[in-house]
Amino acid sequence: MADMMIKDLILPSLHWNTDLINVLFDGEWARKICAMPICVSTSNDYVFWKHTPSRIYSVKSGYAICLSTHLSRYSTPKDLNRINYPVKAFCKRKLWHLPGPQVWKILLWKIITDSLSVGAEFARRNIVMDQMCPLCCVPDSIETLDHLFRDCVLVKRLWACSSLGISTNFTDCICLRDWIINWILFFDSKENSSSSIILFLSMVWSIWRVRNEVIFSGKTFSVDYFYNLQACVAKAALEAEEFATSKASRLGQSSFNPLDTIRSDIRNHFPFFMVGEKGACKCFRAKVDASWVDFSRASLGWVVYSPEGVRYCTFARSFVAESAIQAEAMGIRDLITWALGHNILYLDISSDCLQLLLQLAGVELPHHLTKGLLQDIEHFFTFFHCLCFTFLPRHLNMVAHNLARAELGL
Ligand SMILES: [Zn+2]
Repeated sequence: MADMMIKDLILPSLHWNTDLINVLFDGEWARKICAMPICVSTSNDYVFWKHTPSRIYSVKSGYAICLSTHLSRYSTPKDLNRINYPVKAFCKRKLWHLPGPQVWKILLWKIITDSLSVGAEFARRNIVMDQMCPLCCVPDSIETLDHLFRDCVLVKRLWACSSLGISTNFTDCICLRDWIINWILFFDSKENSSSSIILFLSMVWSIWRVRNEVIFSGKTFSVDYFYNLQACVAKAALEAEEFATSKASRLGQSSFNPLDTIRSDIRNHFPFFMVGEKGACKCFRAKVDASWVDFSRASLGWVVYSPEGVRYCTFARSFVAESAIQAEAMGIRDLITWALGHNILYLDISSDCLQLLLQLAGVELPHHLTKGLLQDIEHFFTFFHCLCFTFLPRHLNMVAHNLARAELGL
């Protein structure tokens, strides 16, 4: 037990080993552990102080925590809401700087300050209104904020099936407000935080909107409609964010765009970059491409040729991706894992996604859209004797391109 590490409590499928945790810890601790999200990427751990936006400890923030703990001993729960330092700090420093439309932030602010009125609150104020949850219609399911945004059986499924894949099991020991703040701070602590936060907020916003449509417009709830709505609002917000960021970076550094610099002499970079020693006689060649239509429709396709130039394998599949570049990265990761599974250790990969190749080559670009996937791919580099990446213009990559498109029926 003394030698155990946290990773010993995590299954290979990246879920908590609940059986083991329940044996080692008592009920409440076990529940709290299982409620923590597990990081799926392979980046290194680091120590940070969660109570300041800079993640660095300051005496001032430490004092504020002590003060709020001290005051909480003399305060009612309602007072505690008002002085809870993390919530106050979150609202002051984080909330209004989050990506996404202002209405999302106002909704979020109302939720975490407990000022959004739903069924239970109307009942408490003796306002005659149906206080049951309008979504699940499960008998006795009273519509509280926790129920509506997280604990409703139907909403649990929406979270689990969203592209964030958030599990809402074991959340009974953490209130909705802390749950939301924890998730946002968790996403915020990672690279490429904007898109995850936008996806998270778009889920919250869509739940609220669909709930209101059911109550006020008499619509019936449909999962398809929900995800369509959520994908649309998230896409619009992501595009707006991307536009704003690129505008800001253009204003900040108008003279340098690494993409332009390298694009101009791309033909001199052939092959693009290579890991290991190239054994020309043994090298398999692969062409890979991806198609991306929207959040629910992406596909990848690749074709592998033997060292003798004979078509060895073709593959295509559809999946869910947040962006076109993420779909491209998924394509390369799929291809690499397939090759390793078939003991192909000399591989030359051609892709027409310049932005992805640049990121793989370690060029800093304004948007690191696929950090986790890039880390996965870099991790697999080490298994190859030679892995070579070649840029191929789209018109020379039509085999893979058509494979991917056909998978979506395009
Ligand atoms: Zn419900």
